[in-house]
Amino acid sequence: MSQKYKCCDTEFENLNDFKRHIRSRNWHRLNYSDLIRLKMKNETLYNIIRNPNILFALSNLITPIQDKGILYLPFTKQRTGLVLKRSIVGKLEGPKPDIDLIKYKFTSDNIVYELGFRVKKINEEYSELLILCSMNVNIGLLGRLLPSEVLKTLQKMVTPQIVVEKVSKNLSAMSV
Ligand SMILES: [Zn+2]
Repeated sequence: MSQKYKCCDTEFENLNDFKRHIRSRNWHRLNYSDLIRLKMKNETLYNIIRNPNILFALSNLITPIQDKGILYLPFTKQRTGLVLKRSIVGKLEGPKPDIDLIKYKFTSDNIVYELGFRVKKINEEYSELLILCSMNVNIGLLGRLLPSEVLKTLQKMVTPQIVVEKVSKNLSAMSV
């Protein structure tokens, strides 16, 4: 089975090329986007997207507290059998309108997430939503020395794909 590795808007054919790329810089970027159709009025969807408390409650990943956010990382099972939930506190900005996108940004020392939403009216009953997510992560010197550790770490992170899928799944559940 051949697996493709994606990072910083580039696809790598094999693990060695990917590892070479990982070593080449501290900051790496992952993107994911999806376009979904919802049985929801345009105004209702727009009101959800513009309200960080509702939006992030839906994502179940970030809890907004004033201008900050707490990002919860997936449960990790230790060898002792203990399940730990890790979290990162960061600055949470948004909603910021940017042309036809509504944007949010979560910034902490070594990880930055950017979210963008575009709401489009289909008819009185249905709307279309474009969800864009990017993650910039600083792997640091240790990551550059040990690229295979980066792979393991990334698997434990909340990737842009996870963010987009959670928002889309929970919005779809609401629209039934
Ligand atoms: Zn990269």
